[in-house]
Amino acid sequence: MSSQFQEKPERRWSLQDFEIGKPLGKGKFGRVYVAREVKSKYVVALKVIFKEQIEKYRLHHQLRREMEIQASLRHPNVLRLYGWFHDAERIFLILEYAYGGELYGELRKTGHLSENQAATYIASLTQALAYCHEKHVIHRDIKPENLLLDHEGRLKIADFGWSVQSSSKRHTMCGTLDYLAPEMVENKAHDYAVDNWTLGILCYEFLYGAPPFEAESQRDTFKRIMKVDLSFPSTPHVSAEARNLISLLLVKDSSKRLSLQKIMEHPWIIENANPTGTCKK
Ligand code: AMP
Repeated sequence: MSSQFQEKPERRWSLQDFEIGKPLGKGKFGRVYVAREVKSKYVVALKVIFKEQIEKYRLHHQLRREMEIQASLRHPNVLRLYGWFHDAERIFLILEYAYGGELYGELRKTGHLSENQAATYIASLTQALAYCHEKHVIHRDIKPENLLLDHEGRLKIADFGWSVQSSSKRHTMCGTLDYLAPEMVENKAHDYAVDNWTLGILCYEFLYGAPPFEAESQRDTFKRIMKVDLSFPSTPHVSAEARNLISLLLVKDSSKRLSLQKIMEHPWIIENANPTGTCKK
């Protein structure tokens, strides 16, 4: 079996190039199947999106942007988009196959992750975001559902639907409330530091099983985010170093949040993260 996917320029692919296997999941705009490229036998995930849905919600510009951004990125912790093609009704995205599925599933199954797993995922995410930020890409929608795992348990950021490629401060409102930084819920200008805030939220959720500002209503979540109403349940399995890292990321003033570089140097990451980025269940 070839270990390399041989890329072709856009439009050169067609459905005949693939053998379609089992469905992997269902998203808002279509389904994802495991598939094998006939010539190389390379296994990929094929995401099928119905054009009608995209037109109905006027999302073609967003989808195009998502595809262009994701296709341009090359990082071990960013899910590859190898290419795309379309027929009369559907758009097909040829994606790297993440055998381990959603990190969210893992989290729900076990309630919370170990410090070793959590630190490994946070370090992987930090490195992937540093790479994205270098390329002027802000993801803005990092949440467990958008994080997939490969066959070795290596984290892959997927779904660039809300990402932007920009070097200036952004103003648009987007994303899921629980993971949003104060400057985003307030609809203020924001920059790369929104992703650093989200790392704090995720680190908390990995270790405690739920995001820190969860509330009965969106309004209450909004209020808790704005106040940075952060408290740590007294669970013995979470170390003081982990809580320290979370506190340094969930800081209202975006310029005072720990930088990606400093996250990698934080004692909790140094002590707990697996340098290979792999995480066996
Ligand atoms: P999405 O439409 O991107 O939300 O995908 C729907 C579901 O399909 C996800 O929740 C995953 O469980 C699964 N999935 C999506 N992309 C992949 C992939 N590249 N590899 C494996 N599973 C995937």
